[in-house]
Amino acid sequence: MKFIYKRILFKISGEVIKNINNKKFQNSIIFNIIKDIKYLIKHGIEISIIIGGGNLFRGSELTKIGINRITADYIGILSTVINGLFLKDLFNKYNISVCLMSSNIVNDVCEKYNLEKAINLLSNSVVVIFCGGFGYPFFTTDSAACLRAIETCSDIILKGTQVNGVYSKDPKNYKNAILYDKLNYQDVLKNEFKIMDLTAFILARDHNIPICIFNIYNKKALIRILFGEKEGTIIHN
Ligand code: UDP
Repeated sequence: MKFIYKRILFKISGEVIKNINNKKFQNSIIFNIIKDIKYLIKHGIEISIIIGGGNLFRGSELTKIGINRITADYIGILSTVINGLFLKDLFNKYNISVCLMSSNIVNDVCEKYNLEKAINLLSNSVVVIFCGGFGYPFFTTDSAACLRAIETCSDIILKGTQVNGVYSKDPKNYKNAILYDKLNYQDVLKNEFKIMDLTAFILARDHNIPICIFNIYNKKALIRILFGEKEGTIIHN
């Protein structure tokens, strides 16, 4: 079988690292992701990751307790750096070569974002983890994922979630919710599906990059997507 994508950008939400309800580290999911990434790297796939921070802090939640929005977002941005350090260490332990790059917000614990260097590392089988989002308040790491995917000329953005893809209605509340295999950006924007923010969808649409929304709990999901098998929902133009 042949892979249908060569360079991918994988968005990992903070909650994949630590469940915010039961406060437990999700070691088995991270371990499955690491196994899949090792396999893909061995087969020549170029992988960058953008890591979120929602398990630690989200700006919008901090504002509810009175924190100024800009400060709240910087706290959120710093959370993504903490998660980036966490991932980097685990990847190193499993012998995956990795470089952690941050937006302009942090310089000492990781490298400063440098596109030329990132592309060079990707083509040399190094996983590049982007943290710090855009580095500016009022954005999310979903939008930053689309920006980094555009900049690195990635073939697809993969967003792992806790559901199987995009549904017509919330599958937790409606048994008759339909899971879509494919959607186009026009439908996603018209229906305002809440699976990623609209800035992210608009960036991906305008730069013609598909997004695959899939269930991160499904074993080997990453590999199946790369083989072009049916997994999650693909959104395209
Ligand atoms: N954030 C920001 N600008 C960015 C990226 C992130 O202000 O470019 C802040 C924002 O407050 C966000 C938080 O960092 O809520 C954590 O990121 P996100 O919610 O995207 O993490 P995820 O939910 O994917 O774990």
